[in-house]
Amino acid sequence: MFRMLKARIQQGRRTIRVPLEAVELPERFRGRPALDASRCDDGCRACSEACPTQAIAIQPLRVDLGACLFCTACQDACPSDAIRYTTDYRLAARSREALILSEGEYPLAQALDAKMRRLFGRSLKLRQVSAGGCNGCESELVALGNVVFDLSRFGVEFVASPRHADGIVVTGTVTDNMEHALRETYAAVPSPRLVIAVGACAISGGPFAGADASHGGVPRDIPVDLYVPGCPPHPLTILDGLLRMLGRMESGGAREADPPRAS
Ligand code: SF4
Repeated sequence: MFRMLKARIQQGRRTIRVPLEAVELPERFRGRPALDASRCDDGCRACSEACPTQAIAIQPLRVDLGACLFCTACQDACPSDAIRYTTDYRLAARSREALILSEGEYPLAQALDAKMRRLFGRSLKLRQVSAGGCNGCESELVALGNVVFDLSRFGVEFVASPRHADGIVVTGTVTDNMEHALRETYAAVPSPRLVIAVGACAISGGPFAGADASHGGVPRDIPVDLYVPGCPPHPLTILDGLLRMLGRMESGGAREADPPRAS
């Protein structure tokens, strides 16, 4: 027992502090790409030809973060360093159009309106729907509950029943077999409800877009409130998007649950 306590004290604090902006990820992390179209040679299509998901368009140069797998094949193929992947994990957006990244500023996710923030800003229960994914995104969602990210300190928790949820978190490309389950789960969540699409598959179908059994992500008639790009997204990308959507990143950074939750 004494040895355990000693080891615990030696470990120190492992939980990431807020504001999250202070967190720096290692160089090998592939976050938001930085584009410099002025470096592109006329007629060069090396990046778009290398892309496995047609996420890149040229003239003007732009990347659809909702389809990007962050594989960096485009960066490797580019002969003039026009595309460079940075370590910026802040990628989530409130609309599909906002995921189209071009040169210049990338707009971060906006907060919900005042009414929705009053409802969900301090306590948000979510039901996860794995709609035909590889479990990569699901693993990162599970990681949000560990001691490093400690999602529940912000009042956000996953629940077993959609009847007890304020919204759903969708992962996977939405296969034929899972579409019905997704719609039933969405219908079982009381209104007003939130829909969060996590990962390239849920946003656009990812590498499975166009496959016979894939519906290309969340069906268009289910309105999505937050898109979290990545393949899979880093837990910090998910956490950053959630806190921005809930209006918890104002005044320079996210606050922990307010008032403190009873344990
Ligand atoms: S990093 Fe994204 S845009 Fe670049 S090749 Fe891979 S999937 Fe395509």
